[in-house]
Order: sequence, then C-alpha cells, then structure tokens
Amino acid sequence: HIAVFGSTNMDLVAYVAKAPQRGETVTGREFRTLPGGKGANQAVAAARAGATVAMIGAVGNDAFGSGLRSALDHSGVDTDLLRTVEGPSGTAHIVVDDDGGNAIVVVPGANASLTALSAGDTAEIAAADALLLQLETPLEGVLAAARAARESGVRTLLTPAPAQPLPPELLAATDLLLPNEHEAAALTGIDDPAAAAAALLSQVPEVVVTLGAAGSLYAARGAAPVTVPARRVTAVDTTGAGDTFVGALAVSLAEGTPMPQALEWASAASALSVQRPGASASMPYRTEIDGAAGG
Ligand code: ADP
Repeated sequence: HIAVFGSTNMDLVAYVAKAPQRGETVTGREFRTLPGGKGANQAVAAARAGATVAMIGAVGNDAFGSGLRSALDHSGVDTDLLRTVEGPSGTAHIVVDDDGGNAIVVVPGANASLTALSAGDTAEIAAADALLLQLETPLEGVLAAARAARESGVRTLLTPAPAQPLPPELLAATDLLLPNEHEAAALTGIDDPAAAAAALLSQVPEVVVTLGAAGSLYAARGAAPVTVPARRVTAVDTTGAGDTFVGALAVSLAEGTPMPQALEWASAASALSVQRPGASASMPYRTEIDGAAGG
C-alpha cells in the first residue's frame, strides 16, 4: 500500500518541425492532451506495478481536472484524497520538435494549493508502506508529508525534481533519495554520479541515481555502491522513465524485495515504458514487468 503526495498536471503537447522563436508563429503537426505531473505519474506506475495506491493531490474545477481524476481512477489509483479546488488544474505546455527536443512551461494551478495535510492525508500516510514525494508542489506541503511519514515510521522516497536547493529538514526525513544524474549534479555541484551519490549520503541513508540508458547507481551508508545496467532496448519516448522506475521500485521494496533485485525489477519496468510513446500511457502492468524481468 503506497501513498503518493504530489502534482497532477495535464500535459498539452504540440508537435512541430521546429519550435517557434519569440514573436514567431509556426503551424504544428499534431496536438495531444496527456495526463501527467510527476506525482500522478508515480501513482499510476505504482498502481500498474501491482500496489494499492492513494494519490494525495489537487486538481482544478475545470475540464482538465475531471479528466485527470478519471485517468487516475482508470489506472486503479484511489482518488478519495485528490481534492478539487477552485481555479485551473496544473498544466504543462510542451513543444516537441522533430529532433525530439522540447521546451516546457509548467503552470502549477491547483498544485499550488497543496501547502498542508488534511487529517485524512495524515492517516493515509501513516497507514502506508511507503510515501512517494517529488518537488512539483510547494515545499511546505512536501515537508509536512515527509514529517507525517517520519512520525509513523513510514519509508519516504523523494524524487528531487525539478532540482532545487532542499531544506535540511526534508532530507533528514527522507529514507531514499532518487535524483537523475542532472539532479544529483545540481544538488551537490559534483558532475560524477558516484561521487555525487557519496556526497548525498551525508544527508540521507540511501541514494539511487538514475542514469538514463546507462542504468542506475545505488549507494548506501557503509556499503559499496552498486551499478544496475539498463535493459538494452530501442527507446521511442523516455518521458516518464524515471517515474516508472520509482513507482515500480517502491512497489517491489514494499513487498520486501531486497534492494538489488528491486532495482532490477524497476529497470525492467522502465525499459518497457521507454519502448512505447507517452508518459503514464506507456507504463507497464505487473504481468508485463514480471515477464520482462523473468520472475
Ligand atoms: P528521468 O526520466 O527521471 O530523467 P532516467 O532517464 O535516468 O530518469 O531513467 C530512469 C530509468 O529508466 C533508468 O535508470 C533506466 O533503468 C531506465 N531507462 C531510461 N532510459 C532508458 C533507455 N533508453 N533504455 C533502457 N532503459 C532506460
């Protein structure tokens, strides 16, 4: 049973040959609305990987809000603690060009209201096997959720994205920090992922740095670091790879799987997701992950 506290966004994606410059208008080829937000993505990943998942978040009272809620419901995520607040839902305005490059504007909308926990949120977190946190909602709310987990002895997994300086109190309440290589470098000022992970161990007991097609690196206090290679697959869309990885890893750890095997399973899950288009749409279900992981 996993609790996720975090963002829910509608991704509004325009596909163009070449992104417009300032003052320029270009004609796009295609437009898609895709449910996203790192919180919601991790919730979908964990639910599809086989856990009972509750999403603590907020959507607006607009059409995107009802779409986001039903997308979560559809993946089997419990949305009882997803509030609907006055105003627009969170949106990400994404321009993808033919080279696969992108430019993104995120407008937090309803996500900005997540500054504190309700009594129901606190009870949900206290009853969970793990709490998943990211940084697309206000830090004070993230901190309140981390504190609630710590008070109940619940394992907290923090994805420090988007990268920003972290209050020491948040790191002190984090059990496992999961930056990608860019976030690890931004947090520490150290470019080498292994050295960055080692530096982060002074603040958190366990770190996993994800390295894209190069896999992931696990570091824990008092143990030699472990590198887990990525599966060799043909990637068509790596959006949401990290969220798939975190969701699957949380499920495997919550089931009592030791870290190295849990990392292998998460790596199989994220390798499946990069072979299909979309962020949450590409996330694999448990039977597929077990099949790919050979377990
Ligand atoms: P993020 O999406 O947060 O930037 P990464 O790109 O590091 O995260 O990807 C997370 C995980 O997804 C990696 O550790 C790896 O296991 C898997 N992954 C990412 N890209 C690929 C790829 N091209 N091929 C296979 N696995 C991949």
